[in-house]
Amino acid sequence: MALIVMKFGGTSVANVERIKNVARQAIAKKKAGNDVVLVASAMAGVTDKLIGYLNELTPDHNLREYDQMVSTGETSNVPLIAQAIISAGEAAESFTGVQAGIQTNNSHSKARVVRIDTANLKRALGEGKICVVAGFQGYDPASGNITTLGRGGSDTTAVALAAALKADKCEIYTDVDGVYTADPRIVKDAKKLDVISHEEMLELASLGAKVLVSRCVELGMTHDIDIMVLSSLEDKQGTLVTSKLGGRNMENLVISGITSDKNQAKIVVSGLPDKVGTASKLFTELADANINIDVIVQNATRNELSDISFTVQKNELVRAKNVCDVAANRVGAKVHADENIAKVSIVGVGITSNVGVAATMFRVLAEHAINIQMISTSDIKISCVIDEKFAEVAVRSLHDAFITGK
Ligand code: ADP
Ligand code: ASP
Ligand code: MG
Repeated sequence: MALIVMKFGGTSVANVERIKNVARQAIAKKKAGNDVVLVASAMAGVTDKLIGYLNELTPDHNLREYDQMVSTGETSNVPLIAQAIISAGEAAESFTGVQAGIQTNNSHSKARVVRIDTANLKRALGEGKICVVAGFQGYDPASGNITTLGRGGSDTTAVALAAALKADKCEIYTDVDGVYTADPRIVKDAKKLDVISHEEMLELASLGAKVLVSRCVELGMTHDIDIMVLSSLEDKQGTLVTSKLGGRNMENLVISGITSDKNQAKIVVSGLPDKVGTASKLFTELADANINIDVIVQNATRNELSDISFTVQKNELVRAKNVCDVAANRVGAKVHADENIAKVSIVGVGITSNVGVAATMFRVLAEHAINIQMISTSDIKISCVIDEKFAEVAVRSLHDAFITGK
């Protein structure tokens, strides 16, 4: 008997009709002789609505209360799914993150899974039940507090459970039928990939391809779990994310994907003293406030002063700016924040071994009169920070240049 983890995202469980459809799919797997663990998100839009209430009160909210609040979207959805399965004649039991034994660290709003106590799930599976687990949530055993795993975290729950339960398959069902060379909602002629390496998927995901959250790909990579991305609405072949490719996509494309990430904001701290330890102090304070930093650029020194610019996730901008304001005040520097930015990236294992890729990217952006504010590169990606309003144009024209060859 095989064990299958099936994860359904928000649009796949957005209303009772869709929930009945999901119940049917889980029951079909069960009837085919498998053990089934179903991980579900909150109904589409619910998490955003809950966060909206908190932001209306204060954007600088307490993160313990944030977790306690936003986890309820999943908490209230899984009993409904379990009931749909029971009503269709199959045994099922719903589980919160706590009941599923998902232990995390105490990093509220982006907690990491530390350990999973699978006893409860194994007991229910042993009783022949389909386990319906709330995605996105866990708990910190030291304090007993509810935690959440970051936006899109139900993907992480699914892969973490697949690892802990040594599942035979991990299937992520969503509202597109696989991983494409760009977001198919932005680029109409984006190509579906039959297979992609964990490494490239990790890069695509962390650069904004939200079809999978990067943390789940990271887990898939470390635990060598193949992840199948499929449509919950159509019975079509999906995309396999695997390590069995030796790091290269089957299509042998130089560029495997184009992404954009609008969930970024830029902070510029200008007039910092050009002294040993300045960057260290600033970024230590940001790290102490548990803020993730992305692209960093330090400008050339003028008159013994320098500017440091960096990007953070939009939802951490207020906290990051507060930290920078305090640091800047101490040394007479100035802080400027810009929310209207996006990061566009090209991803592919061929980037460093192909001459002229960066030049082509910059030329394409220039041809569309898009100013590049920051650049960052790695072995398998080049990212440019640009004005948010050009994100879609940039993705389409880069896709034309690198993938469709127009
Ligand atoms: P779920 O609610 O099922 O977790 P998400 O909205 O988080 O679904 O992720 C699916 C969405 O990811 C798609 O609707 C699509 O617009 C977007 N997406 C972005 N980049 C890509 C890509 N390269 N391939 C496929 N989908 C992508
Ligand atoms: N509901 C959470 C979110 O919207 C988790 C998820 O959908 O994966 O981010
Ligand atoms: Mg998602």
